[in-house]
Amino acid sequence: MSDCFYCENGEKLRSLMILIKETQYSKIYLNRDQKHPGRCVVQLKDHKTEYFQLTKEEREGYFYDVAVTAKAIWEVYGPDKINYATFGDLVPHVHVHVVPKYEGGLDWGSPFDDSHPKGLLDDAGYEEAVKKLSAKLDELYGRSFS
Ligand SMILES: [Zn+2]
Repeated sequence: MSDCFYCENGEKLRSLMILIKETQYSKIYLNRDQKHPGRCVVQLKDHKTEYFQLTKEEREGYFYDVAVTAKAIWEVYGPDKINYATFGDLVPHVHVHVVPKYEGGLDWGSPFDDSHPKGLLDDAGYEEAVKKLSAKLDELYGRSFS
């Protein structure tokens, strides 16, 4: 599907996020906009647009990946709550924004708001975030967290 940037897997995708890890069902990305520190995106590998289109196996595998990603963010960044957001009106490919929230911080107590200026990091900042999350994800998958 050429008008889907997840399936296209090109420059547009890379301008928005950085791949951290790929599993059987998902691709886990660091969102380049880090105004909520630790924010990630978990994309279903196959192009499906609604949760009800996933097989039982895909659903279990995909949401396990969402949960592991949230746990990794929790352990690395220490937020007070994780928000999970699925919209997809314009990019219908199944994906969840996994957005850590910090008490007293940006958007605490309300849905996160992408109209704030982007919180971009420098290359070293992205490298460090990816390295830490990647190591934590490997650790969590390794110990079959459940
Ligand atoms: Zn797609």
